[in-house]
Amino acid sequence: MIPSVLPTYNRAPLSFIKGAGSWLIEQDGSRYLDLGAGIAVNALGHAHPALVAALCDQAQTLWHTSNLYDIPNQRALADALTEHSFADTVFFTNSGTEACELAVKMARKYHFEKGQPDRVDIITFSGAFHGRSSAGIAAAGSEKMTRGFGPLLPGFVHLPWGDHDALNAAINDRVAAILVEPVQGEGGIIPLPDQCLKGLRDLCDEHGILLVLDEVQCGVGRTGKLFAHEWAGVTPDIMMVAKGIGGGFPLGAVLATEDAASGMTAGTHGSTYGGNPLGCAVGLAVMKIVSDPAFLDEVNRKAGLLRQKLEGLVAAHPDVFDSVRGSGLMLGIVCKASNLDVVAAGYAQHLLTIPAADNALRLLPALNITDEDITEAVSRLDRAATAVSSGTAA
Ligand SMILES: *Cc1c(COP(=O)(O)O)cnc(C)c1O
Repeated sequence: MIPSVLPTYNRAPLSFIKGAGSWLIEQDGSRYLDLGAGIAVNALGHAHPALVAALCDQAQTLWHTSNLYDIPNQRALADALTEHSFADTVFFTNSGTEACELAVKMARKYHFEKGQPDRVDIITFSGAFHGRSSAGIAAAGSEKMTRGFGPLLPGFVHLPWGDHDALNAAINDRVAAILVEPVQGEGGIIPLPDQCLKGLRDLCDEHGILLVLDEVQCGVGRTGKLFAHEWAGVTPDIMMVAKGIGGGFPLGAVLATEDAASGMTAGTHGSTYGGNPLGCAVGLAVMKIVSDPAFLDEVNRKAGLLRQKLEGLVAAHPDVFDSVRGSGLMLGIVCKASNLDVVAAGYAQHLLTIPAADNALRLLPALNITDEDITEAVSRLDRAATAVSSGTAA
């Protein structure tokens, strides 16, 4: 009999009822050190007092009015995001997938309004993940995500990651946008080198193509900059944000320059819930903390500490681990053993990590994880690796 919850996930036999900082707690009191942070969502850990206060205060005041009226919190959050980024304007969504939908619509509308209605193609890359909507799966294009769900939304051109010749050959007057994650998340924590992001920017400028960055996973302080593309010193035309921006409250956003957004006039897009007072109250509290340069300095310091310890761990377990890669507190360990075995062995040590493609183990701790928790996490991972290599893993 089908379970009452549609069984689209292979869930671990873990069930948490409470969270505090980087720890999750089960009914029986067992504590797990959480290096997944709800897939980069709990950017400030669980039950952060400032976020709890922001949500509770708003919950006692006003939950929802719709976008038929001005929402003061929404305006304040849009102001904060534009002040701290390349963007001139923001549309709020409830998820990363919805941000992808708007990014695709916005890019196509831009060229339509500029008198180039045939300019609809969007170039994406292998290993990409842009969400599970019809546009999101068509954008990623992998067999795993698209099989059985056709007909797919047309207009996506899929190129192999890192193939410059294929990219140059794909540029023509039908290309509306290039869509890319500055650090691929689901794909296995694969950073796009800075010079490649710069190259994409130049290519887009040369051909009047919009550069759309998916920073749903790598944005909001995750890499040690507020947004990952800042490392490369270039800016996109459109950017998708979600996950960390809500700190656990469902919230996403599309940020854009005035020019890129110029086709999105009244009536061209909407959302019942997007930018609702509850979500924006929490988003504002997150932004206040994460956009502080001193906070980002700490993210970078902690990232250095974690990375150094992980390099040692990889060297100590050459039969289990291959290498560390990633940026800031978005780190991947490429495994030699099965990454799923390492994740399971982590569970036995009460440590939560997340598998990703390319046999990688993903570490996406809360950005405010303590030094002690970093040390504790690495020693639990050390024990997990020992169990995997000796074949005694659960
Ligand atoms: C998670 C993710 C999405 C989809 O976001 P949802 O909130 O799950 O809809 C899109 N792009 C990237 C890079 C992601 O990591």
